[in-house]
Amino acid sequence: MTSPAADTAPKPSSNFLRQIIERDLAEGTYAQRRFAGTPGDAAHHAAGQPDPARIRTRFPPEPNGYLHIGHAKSITLNFGLAAEYGGVCHLRFDDTNPEKEEQEYVDAILDAVQWLGFDWHAGGVSHLYYASDYFDFMYRAAEALIEAGLAYVDEQSADEIRHNRGDFGHPGKDSPFRGRTPAENLARFRDMRAGKLADGAAVLRARLDMASPNINLRDPALYRIKHAAHHNTGDAWCIYPMYAYAHPIEDALEGITHSICTLEFEDQRPWYDWLLDTLCTLGLLAPPRPHQYEFARLNVTYVITSKRKLKQLVDEKIVDGWDDPRMPTIAGLRRRGYTPESIRLMCERAGTAKAGGWTDYASLDIALREDLEGKAVRAMAVLDPVRLKLTNWADLFASDSYHEPCRAPAHPQRPELGAREFGLGAEVWIERDDFTETPPKGFFRLYPGNRVRLKYGMVVECTGCEKDADGAITAVLATVLPDTKSGTPGADAVKVKGTITWVGVHDALAAEVRLYDRLFTEPQPDAGGKDFKAALNPASKKVAMGFIEPSLANARPDDKFQFERHGYFVADRVDHAAGKPVINRIAGLKDSWAT
Ligand code: ATP
Ligand code: MG
Repeated sequence: MTSPAADTAPKPSSNFLRQIIERDLAEGTYAQRRFAGTPGDAAHHAAGQPDPARIRTRFPPEPNGYLHIGHAKSITLNFGLAAEYGGVCHLRFDDTNPEKEEQEYVDAILDAVQWLGFDWHAGGVSHLYYASDYFDFMYRAAEALIEAGLAYVDEQSADEIRHNRGDFGHPGKDSPFRGRTPAENLARFRDMRAGKLADGAAVLRARLDMASPNINLRDPALYRIKHAAHHNTGDAWCIYPMYAYAHPIEDALEGITHSICTLEFEDQRPWYDWLLDTLCTLGLLAPPRPHQYEFARLNVTYVITSKRKLKQLVDEKIVDGWDDPRMPTIAGLRRRGYTPESIRLMCERAGTAKAGGWTDYASLDIALREDLEGKAVRAMAVLDPVRLKLTNWADLFASDSYHEPCRAPAHPQRPELGAREFGLGAEVWIERDDFTETPPKGFFRLYPGNRVRLKYGMVVECTGCEKDADGAITAVLATVLPDTKSGTPGADAVKVKGTITWVGVHDALAAEVRLYDRLFTEPQPDAGGKDFKAALNPASKKVAMGFIEPSLANARPDDKFQFERHGYFVADRVDHAAGKPVINRIAGLKDSWAT
């Protein structure tokens, strides 16, 4: 028996993170939290207001490369959950590593997040943060851990530290420096900070448990020495916090409630909990503290999503830069013509789960087609042109220079978008493969004796072709059938089995059309550490000189359209200009890779 309430009960949450957030909201886990308007320590937030944000999430990229499709998943997830539950999502640059980070990457990341449709402003406040702004607090927290006997300066060599950490089957061995007193450690840590020790001469470690079955808890390193300038703090520091130490603190200072990361950090969670609980107990951080939750990273077939490997493609000039339309970077996807809507839709459909899987690249094209089907205006384009001569044109229309005006809807289901206009004349461009001298069975296009409709124009009957001295076809010949113009009363009097697209020689625009395809021929090009360069698709970029309809004369960079029979295309955002069209293929009308 079903109760009447069952019909009106809310649908169960569609992923485990929503369930966790809903549980926390129901239990008021974070209801008493205060937020001072800016990140800060326990005292700072205690003096603030009750947090108007019901939850806080964050997207924390390291500015050492361009964002890719995997990051889009994290962005849509974090910003999406915050929006869904009355929360706020912070954009935080995890810039604690002095050497690899660059302003170019910072700018590209800001651009990518905005373009995807997300905003780190909430209630007039910008929640754009830099982890390096927290260096002072991180240092203070480190001294507090030392004073509490919970951290020590280890002067073993890097090799000794690694060796003495043990491994899965063997407990670690205590460092000879583990027994130093807090006073000794404090003095030595201050020496580190003052630049008295060389790079690698010492590290600060937590004093936890050298026998823990979780290797991450065997006295993890908190600080290392690196005499390197930092893009934000300059020469102020020669010691820098380790990621595992910095990240939980960044979350806590910002009042993050749900810290969502990928599965490889699962083993770090006990450390995350220990560190924040300890700093709360020491009175440095304000409870309730953030919690970390892990989900399976997005893996997409036929692409690679490691910043390091993407950088290699750029540095070795295998692609034309970070925004090459074949790159799975947000900048590349954007230039290729994928829309923010299609990327968000694909990420949502990929799901959010604890166990990993692969998402087929085709799902991005499916999302793109769904998004553009209703939006993109139509046009005709001929990408591999051959001339079609209508040999009786002057007989019918008195002159070869006469052009019959033709009209087509800008969009078949959206009359409000208006009509396209172009002319049919004595010569038109058609696709080379729309003609053959010897038709295979089922070929309904042009061959001697066959009739086809020039779409939106007239019916023509093929009479043959012209060839050059080598036998290559230089023109196709046909005659026009009078009174067959589309939309006129006589149009249906002549039945044809084939309709082909075309553009007029007199009014078509010459265009460079870049036919992009997958960059790799294998679904998992770098699986198992194999050489992804061996799987490069040699035909991933073909450049065609084609002709497009005159209705596109005013197309602007980033404008998207559907070329009838060909697929979805975009005016290249970098190279396209009025009078010099450069068009990229985004995706075909169907999946050409489907088996
Ligand atoms: P890469 O390994 O490519 O360098 P990363 O994880 O080191 O990527 P970060 O800048 O640290 O890059 O990533 C920022 C955020 O994006 C992190 O929270 C990370 O977990 C998330 N992220 C990165 N790749 C993916 C992915 N494939 N799927 C989901 N989230 C991802
Ligand atoms: Mg990372």
